[in-house]
Amino acid sequence: MKYYLWTIGCQYNEWDSARLGYLLQKLGLIESKQEDADIIIVLACSVRQTAIDRIFGKIKSWPDKKVLISGCVLEKDRAKFAAKNIEIFESGDIKHLFEILSEHFDNRFEHFKLSEFYSLLSEQNTQSMYIPITIGCNNFCSYCAVPYTRGREKSRAMDEVVNDAKTLIKKGQKEIMLLGQNVNSYNAGRNESGIINGGKTKSDFALLLEKLNDLPGDFKISFTSNHPKDMTDDIIEAVARLPKVIKQIHLPLQSGSDKILKAMNRPYTKKQYLDIVNKIKTAEVPIKITTDVIVGFPGETEKDFQETVEVFKKVGYSIAYVNKYSPRAGTAAHKLGDPIAWSEKKRRWKILDEIANKK
Ligand code: SF4
Repeated sequence: MKYYLWTIGCQYNEWDSARLGYLLQKLGLIESKQEDADIIIVLACSVRQTAIDRIFGKIKSWPDKKVLISGCVLEKDRAKFAAKNIEIFESGDIKHLFEILSEHFDNRFEHFKLSEFYSLLSEQNTQSMYIPITIGCNNFCSYCAVPYTRGREKSRAMDEVVNDAKTLIKKGQKEIMLLGQNVNSYNAGRNESGIINGGKTKSDFALLLEKLNDLPGDFKISFTSNHPKDMTDDIIEAVARLPKVIKQIHLPLQSGSDKILKAMNRPYTKKQYLDIVNKIKTAEVPIKITTDVIVGFPGETEKDFQETVEVFKKVGYSIAYVNKYSPRAGTAAHKLGDPIAWSEKKRRWKILDEIANKK
């Protein structure tokens, strides 16, 4: 039996895709091109409508295949997939995947027990550079579907993360990347002496970086993504001080205009953002700054855009991921429509891309 995995979107989906691929191969399935596959699994992304539309377009060319969807899928799209007889499973819900596979594909999975599925997955967790530390998000940026598709933020226990890192390092992994929609709000609910949740002296994320840095071995630590509102001084200080932490911080700006930031439900101002940048730039050692930005958000005037240009010139990003706004049904910003022409979004995109990426 052959399978094809189609992965769209962020590192989280890549991580899920790697573990699913590993699981399927251990079960005896063979990876193939999509035209030869018996089963197609799509790790979907709902950040843009176009990605979901592409999946619907492709499904028509797979009438004889078993198609499963996982990843980020909005409620309204779930109903549409279900109407086409396509099953959706949560990537963490391995029991459901086990049931689907057992139900649809002869007897080959019958001798497997659910516990064996789990042990194969924990074995796979040692194959990738990624270590998820949080999943979901509480921030509800008005343009983003993640809180609806991945749910509220949950953090993994610190010991569990450290154990994953130990295993990766033992296997010779040279870089481990901590993953989450908002890693710097990582909250392990610690209850260690002197550091008690609610009255803590150091952010959980800074402490996690320290614990990982203290592990013996020749490896580096990176992390993504962050929210400016949770970028505390101790995290910046930890990045600068800890030798195994890569000297780079991803600090998504999204817009340089306070008016647009408010409409995006991003709870910081241009000044507060630049204050954080200043702390990073004046740290003990040089730290690169990278960012994400959206151009053409509804209501973004030329004046608003020029404020973003100003921030770009001031910060001097190492890399900037510039995105042209596209509305997502189900998000708060959807009701604002999409009044800015695509050609204008392209013009703004080009200006920022040239400042940041074509130096
Ligand atoms: S911080 Fe905002 S953009 Fe990032 S995942 Fe959460 S809601 Fe989406």
